[in-house]
Amino acid sequence: MRASLKQKETDPQNYEFDPKTNLKLRNWFVQEKRELAFRKNRTPYSTWVSEIMLQQTRVAAMLPLYEKFMHRFPKPEDLAIAEEEEVFRYWQGLGYYSRAKNLLAGVRILVNEFGGKFPKTLGEALSLPGVGPYTARAILSISYNLPFAVLDGNAKRVLSRLFLFKESGPKADAALQRIADSFLNLESPGDHNEAVMELGARICIPKPLCTECPLQDDCLAYQNGIQESIPEMEKKKKEILLNIRFYILKTKQGILLVRYPERRFFKTIYSLPFLFEGKNPYEADPILDWNLKPTDLGIKFKHTITHHKIQGFVSEAELDQKSEKKILENFRKIRPSIEIKYCNWKNLETEFPSSIAKKIKQTLAKEGTILPGLEK
Ligand code: SF4
Repeated sequence: MRASLKQKETDPQNYEFDPKTNLKLRNWFVQEKRELAFRKNRTPYSTWVSEIMLQQTRVAAMLPLYEKFMHRFPKPEDLAIAEEEEVFRYWQGLGYYSRAKNLLAGVRILVNEFGGKFPKTLGEALSLPGVGPYTARAILSISYNLPFAVLDGNAKRVLSRLFLFKESGPKADAALQRIADSFLNLESPGDHNEAVMELGARICIPKPLCTECPLQDDCLAYQNGIQESIPEMEKKKKEILLNIRFYILKTKQGILLVRYPERRFFKTIYSLPFLFEGKNPYEADPILDWNLKPTDLGIKFKHTITHHKIQGFVSEAELDQKSEKKILENFRKIRPSIEIKYCNWKNLETEFPSSIAKKIKQTLAKEGTILPGLEK
């Protein structure tokens, strides 16, 4: 076994690289890479969309949504003129709607200020909303083959093991970025970055499959038999249990949906009004301070948002014109930024584009609860 990568000192500037390691990695990638939809007919725009979608979503879950999205918005000019709500509908299933909001804002700037062409400098790329260091480097290297090394979770794991870099967490990122920069294959930065990430996604996984790894002979962690303990596991965020009650408020115009950025969840999309119940670490939202007595529908469903384990409940109330007016006045007084719209029962999931809407409907159907006026 040959240690072709040598850690001379703890300073990552002093790592030595054998160019053959890069070659092995590239050859492996060329032969083994997955034929993924976002790797076909690539443009900086399509890479941007796919990278943003992949930020919090697994490849398998993201692929069908990516294809639908690109079919509807094939060019930046198509997306730039779309209504936010339509974009959110195409984002349904991916969650984290602020990503879609930023993507839309960024693409509008791209079209209006950059003539629709993704910039070629890191500074300009970073000036676009939602484009952080990882995304900028990924787009510039993959689309323009510019020499920027990327560092996502997979790349961090691979590099830490290859070069026996034991630190982890945000403080280690600057040092890891320097390692990534030095390791970058300058002849094919795009392929190199994808190869590192692909290796991390398929072979150098948390429990690594070292016997299948093209870099086994070069890997310092493997040679030292400590590959499974590098990088150190970051402490998981503590789970927060929440009880949330959603309100189906029926008015003459339809079911009331609200959107305002001051709340904890659904800051960017319309949702049924909701309130936390019982003990929770967040500030109470006074928006539903009202005198109505909604009916508890007696259903429960489970949902997870990041580290929040949610138990959901549902109440309903019929609002006559007078009480609706009063509630809306109250909403606007407490949350001047509030936006309101109405939907019908049938299109609840498209207007409140979260899987919670679907769960509410499914749970009600399962319990055989029929709500008067909600069948349409
Ligand atoms: S040998 Fe194992 S630990 Fe090292 S890079 Fe390959 S899969 Fe990862």
